[in-house]
Amino acid sequence: MQAITLLGSTGSIGVSTLNVLAQHPDKYQVYALTANSSIDTLFAQCVQFEPKIAVMLDPQAASQLAERLAAAGVDTQVETGTQALEAVAAAAAVKYVMAAIVGAAGLLPTLAAARAGKHILLANKEALVMSGQLFMAEVAANGATLLPVDSEHNAIWQCLPMVSEQHNYQGKGIRRIILTASGGPFRDYDKAGLATVTPEQAVAHPNWSMGQKISVDSATMMNKGLEVIEAHWLFGLESEQIEVLLHRQSIIHSMVDYVDGSVLAQLGNPDMRTPIANALAWPERIESGVAPLDLVAAGRLDFAAVDFDHFPCLALAYRALNSGGTSTTILNAANEEAVAAFLDKRLKFTDIAQIISQVLEQIEPQAGDSLDEILSDDTQARILACELINQA
Ligand code: NAD
Ligand code: MG
Repeated sequence: MQAITLLGSTGSIGVSTLNVLAQHPDKYQVYALTANSSIDTLFAQCVQFEPKIAVMLDPQAASQLAERLAAAGVDTQVETGTQALEAVAAAAAVKYVMAAIVGAAGLLPTLAAARAGKHILLANKEALVMSGQLFMAEVAANGATLLPVDSEHNAIWQCLPMVSEQHNYQGKGIRRIILTASGGPFRDYDKAGLATVTPEQAVAHPNWSMGQKISVDSATMMNKGLEVIEAHWLFGLESEQIEVLLHRQSIIHSMVDYVDGSVLAQLGNPDMRTPIANALAWPERIESGVAPLDLVAAGRLDFAAVDFDHFPCLALAYRALNSGGTSTTILNAANEEAVAAFLDKRLKFTDIAQIISQVLEQIEPQAGDSLDEILSDDTQARILACELINQA
């Protein structure tokens, strides 16, 4: 039996992970579940999985949860606060940590799991985008194992020649990796149409069911930009070796193009339980509950080049990656603030890229090898983004 902590268990990835775990009660045992404030979902998860600890970030929600669990006779200890998140990520009893908190809030607990040498199932791409250099150094120094859950990176991982403990695939005959992108709900909109799209339209992704923030990121294609940066750190490849290809069906999850002309792809139905089960069981395979792929029903697979003018956020992400240091921290922070403002109807969809671009121009990046620098640039970028959003 392997014990697992789920950071962000009430979200889209958290729920899919519990679905996979429930199919293998003989293999995995839930040690801790964590959430921001969704009491009802966390309560139901505690009743079903009986974790030793449940962490609710919001203290009021935590005391309500504790009362409800006690009344229901569930023997789960309820804790609150960011230190409790770090503690369950680093607990000695745990081998696996699913990092599925959304955004920068996931950085410190995911870093705690790296420092404690855990097997990290990484969904929280923002943590790596913010702190790539530092994070990868902590993984290496503490013997942690970083397993990609993001579907594109999990696909690449499955198509690579062998596992590199150093997360560096230079000199392994790889010409480039190709990250596929559906293009999101607005791929066929014109410029005028894009200016008036609503949060409700943006979160209605054609192929995947996901949390609100990543759904907006998919609509702007900042999600693919964050994934280019994520791929740089996970696979040790330069930005010129990481390409993005539009593929509207989301059946091919990504590809590796080798120098001998071979292109290896991983295919499957668009269901996150596949990469989750793959990362969990690696190097073995387990059932995930995902239906077998029916290529006859799929009928066709379409591809197109990305139009960077239509998706300026993707160009901004490449620019930040090439600038290095805390540029990607700044990009991520500005994006989180702009997306939150768009979801709140305080910012137009097309202004998201504008805000990020201005923040990147106005803040001088630092080297990014210390947590202090990362956190201070994250804060500075958020303050500036909020000022610019108020003026927009
Ligand atoms: P979500 O919004 O559905 O869930 C987020 C989870 O994080 C919830 O459990 C929430 O309670 C928790 N949370 C939110 N703010 C928090 C805070 N301040 N402190 C502690 N916990 C907090 O998000 P999601 O779609 O499941 O995405 C989670 C992560 O996985 C993101 O980084 C996303 O980019 C990545 N990811 C998601 C998908 C997907 O299909 N949903 C695919 C690939 C990668
Ligand atoms: Mg992805």
